[in-house]
Amino acid sequence: MLRKGTVISMTEKILPNRLDRGFNQYQQELEAKALEVLRSGWYVLGPEVESFEREFAEYTGAGYCVGLASGLDALWLAFRVLGIGSGDEVIVPANTYIASVMGITINGATPVFVEPDAFYNLDPSRLEKHLTPNTKAVLAVHLYGQACDMERILSFCRRHGLRLVEDCAQSHGACFKGRITGTFGDIGCFSFYPSKNLGAFGDAGAIVTDNKEIAADMKMYRNYGSERRYYNKVVGANSRLDELQAGLLRVRLKHLAALNEERKRLANRYGSELKNPQLILPQVREGAESVWHQYVIRTDRREELIRYLEQRGIGTLIHYPVPPHLSEAYACLGHHRGDYPLTEKYADTVLSLPMYYGMTEQEQEFVISVLNSFE
Ligand SMILES: *Cc1c(COP(=O)(O)O)cnc(C)c1O
Repeated sequence: MLRKGTVISMTEKILPNRLDRGFNQYQQELEAKALEVLRSGWYVLGPEVESFEREFAEYTGAGYCVGLASGLDALWLAFRVLGIGSGDEVIVPANTYIASVMGITINGATPVFVEPDAFYNLDPSRLEKHLTPNTKAVLAVHLYGQACDMERILSFCRRHGLRLVEDCAQSHGACFKGRITGTFGDIGCFSFYPSKNLGAFGDAGAIVTDNKEIAADMKMYRNYGSERRYYNKVVGANSRLDELQAGLLRVRLKHLAALNEERKRLANRYGSELKNPQLILPQVREGAESVWHQYVIRTDRREELIRYLEQRGIGTLIHYPVPPHLSEAYACLGHHRGDYPLTEKYADTVLSLPMYYGMTEQEQEFVISVLNSFE
């Protein structure tokens, strides 16, 4: 531990994220796989995608995985396949990334926002009062890598005959009471955007499900609504996972357990060494195991702290500064500041600390020492 007030210095700026470091960790394996795919002559929906789907289904314990082009596609196609659209309401956390909400509204369905609990996730105690005769589904988002209280959310859905979709874009491998996120509901939606815990080298996504029909429909939708070439049953999408991304994801999937451990180590160090009373540190829900997609603190003096860190060569990010209900994109929903005060308070005070694969002990020590010296 450094004495309070002691600030070591770094020659290189510390960025909120360093994707190059993540690449360097498995550079040889990744390069070999990239060349293999490039030389294979098969680039879309081929053997790498099939293998990845099998391996990712196995990893999650789900019956099926269907590779897609992005996390957003996974979300909107999930609701499409479940038949949720115009006139239907979907309960969604107010405190989430806007893609969660877009997955609902692209289908013409209405998002019904619910305030978060102390762990930044959907507060199960508030679900009941948002229920209407039009409620068809709940979208549980495991934000920042931590599972929602899936026991209570699942029982709410069962009690009221609702569909349950999970947004696992930030929770690859995260568990609640030993069960992996993405396998509680009808469909688990994943993004493999490069900065996610399991990241591709471009856009990529997938769904997992135990339902054979849902998996088959999803395969049809991702490929222009066709099961048989040039015979189209529905108006689908072009949301095919490509061979290069699937191959590279397979390389990383093999190391995902170790990678999540690395994030956990970084998070534990932040948790045990950050001693500044002005910072509210993240807590882990009982029964949940976080994979720490982000390490998010809160402070009422955020702007000052950002400047203080910036002056010392440390970059941070805000996840997210504008909650979806206040976003310009959703002005049509007619929400105002004050509608979801807890969500708005979080949006005004959260700050994500640097956290990435390959972050050195020295780098983290520097970040911690600067944060502890902020007065
Ligand atoms: C990243 C993310 C998405 C969207 O994934 P893309 O692959 O970028 O489309 C959806 N929901 C959450 C919570 C995310 O973090």
